[in-house]
Amino acid sequence: MADQPAANTLAARLARLGLRSDADFVLHLPLRYEDETRITPLADARPGIAAQFEVAVVASEIAYRPRRQLLARVRDGSAALSLRFLNFYPSQQKVLQSGARLRIFGEVHEGYLGPEIIHPRFHMVGAGEPLPERLTPVYPTTAGLGQATLRRLIERALARADLADTLAPELRQRLDLPEFADAIRLLHTPPPEMTQAALEAREHPAWRRVQFDELLAQQLSLRRAYSARRARGAPPLVANATLTGALLAALPFALTRAQQRAWREIAADLGQPHPMQRLLQGDVGSGKTVVAALAMLHAVEAGYQAALMAPTEILAEQHYRKLAAWLQPLGIEVAWLTGSLRKREKEAAIARVGAGDTPIAIGTHALIEDKVEFARLGLAIVDEQHRFGVRQRLALKEKGSFAHQLAMSATPIPRTLAMSYYADLDVSVLDELPPGRSPVTTKLVAEARRDQVLTRVHEACRGGRQAYWVCPLIEESETLQLKTAEETYARLVAELPDLRIGLVHGRLKAADKAAVMAAFVANEIQVLVATTVIEVGVDVPNASLMVIEHAERFGLAQLHQLRGRVGRGAAQSACILLYAQPLGELARARLKVIYESTDGFAIAREDLRLRGPGEFVGSRQSGLPLLRYADLEDAALVEQARAVAEDMLQAAPERAEAHLQRWLGGREELLKA
Ligand code: ADP
Ligand code: MG
Repeated sequence: MADQPAANTLAARLARLGLRSDADFVLHLPLRYEDETRITPLADARPGIAAQFEVAVVASEIAYRPRRQLLARVRDGSAALSLRFLNFYPSQQKVLQSGARLRIFGEVHEGYLGPEIIHPRFHMVGAGEPLPERLTPVYPTTAGLGQATLRRLIERALARADLADTLAPELRQRLDLPEFADAIRLLHTPPPEMTQAALEAREHPAWRRVQFDELLAQQLSLRRAYSARRARGAPPLVANATLTGALLAALPFALTRAQQRAWREIAADLGQPHPMQRLLQGDVGSGKTVVAALAMLHAVEAGYQAALMAPTEILAEQHYRKLAAWLQPLGIEVAWLTGSLRKREKEAAIARVGAGDTPIAIGTHALIEDKVEFARLGLAIVDEQHRFGVRQRLALKEKGSFAHQLAMSATPIPRTLAMSYYADLDVSVLDELPPGRSPVTTKLVAEARRDQVLTRVHEACRGGRQAYWVCPLIEESETLQLKTAEETYARLVAELPDLRIGLVHGRLKAADKAAVMAAFVANEIQVLVATTVIEVGVDVPNASLMVIEHAERFGLAQLHQLRGRVGRGAAQSACILLYAQPLGELARARLKVIYESTDGFAIAREDLRLRGPGEFVGSRQSGLPLLRYADLEDAALVEQARAVAEDMLQAAPERAEAHLQRWLGGREELLKA
């Protein structure tokens, strides 16, 4: 940003708080309040409760023991106490002269010289000076920016900002929300009869208004970005079901009802003259890949190309294998593009994609490198889209800015989160698993009983089954992670000498990785020691046992994804979570959730509860500003905001515009990522 002010100016400090326009100041709301409307006699002070006192200074001095500090002795008609300042300015010292009359605000504690207040806020007053009539707001601030300055600036902004209501009176009435101006004024300077507790718990109707407005701004902005993209225009993909029909006929299974529904929704979108913006959401194993394959074939029937991008080599490779096996028998060529291809192969693939010779391309983010130009890209699919950075997602959109877009995600997110984070997408949900799966049994086993787990792995493999053994996670260091993976591998090779054991991790060369995975698929490897590289997409139905070492170190979403690698065949499957004691409170809570539930949505809700929404979808990555006042778990309010946003964009676009301007100012661009 070119107009970044110098780091230590007032403007810079304000900018750090996001305070630029009057509207920003108006919406910078207090964290809490202090009651300076009353004077408490010193004799009535209660330890730990902040209050205001009016006192006269009896004496003051700078003491040097145990360290330099300013001490003042003060009294009112009822009692006396000490004020202590460990840091102070000469100007403060000057005010604290014997005889000075002060109003002080702070909490009294029992000090070693008797009752005292450390660092009270204070100011000189004349006799009979009137008391403020409102509670004093305390704002979130940043180093070097005092409350007094912030209050003054906010007061000034409140006096001159346009506080006109962006909600029509009937709507306010229907939603039972107070007027904006009233709500805002009340929150900045509440009258003393309001109970501080209700205000601070943010339960007052004024807070509800602010929360609603914030959610409304988010919904408006997302819906508007959606409309803007929709207005762009895309080729309507007119298909004749020759290829999709042939694939459906060749598959060894019938689509589940959920898959049929999603596929119908997608096909309908693809026929439209504006780009599809759809998210296909389905828990691990719900069968998203075949839906993606159908969508790609639909594009090909219409004479266009389709691309599928996956976040990791392993996943991209799995997709490639699976799709090539399905599509090549139909005479459809599938190109493979990743960063690790040899230069010659890569150039050849790029050339064929560019000439339009290859109708389908699958790969990692190599697909969106500058050099790759599709001849006629009609559909771009991104798998596990939340794992890509904003920049990469943008790049694919640029590449196919007129193409239809399908994102796939196995991270089930709770409905309210989906509504706000994905309000700019249409969503198809696969809420049903293909039949014939036996549920995965989850077992929690203490590290001390590792031997029993080894026996179990041994038995499973002797019975013709296969197992994953997931290495302990070392998030801080990739080098350590690698070392741990190799040690785990070496240890298992020694412990299970008659089994064929393989190792796969993130640092392996792509070709080696592919070779290991192929050997596992072919059951030449019986136990696959792996890092979380196998977390998504890996699909080996014969593997029916998974052991996760130091399961207490993994996140809930990760555990759920990992467990989703087993239970893909007909055999009874199990996931064994080995944990080391003692367990921290949060780790214990996570393991309990994963033990008790296999439902991705239920797990996601718990995850949200344990971690909070910011972490959950990586809001920093998503480019969405965090909500400051509203709570996404407040489903009813989110629903209302969503409904109102849709109405408002239709019926009162000028109100929508004013609302967005107030809440997002110039920052809306961020959301379009
Ligand atoms: P995910 O949604 O996790 O990406 P996949 O697409 O990898 O799931 O599908 C998981 C497994 O289920 C694959 O082996 C796939 O071929 C199989 N599958 C998909 N749909 C069906 C179905 N309708 N009936 C039976 N098996 C299916
Ligand atoms: Mg998948």
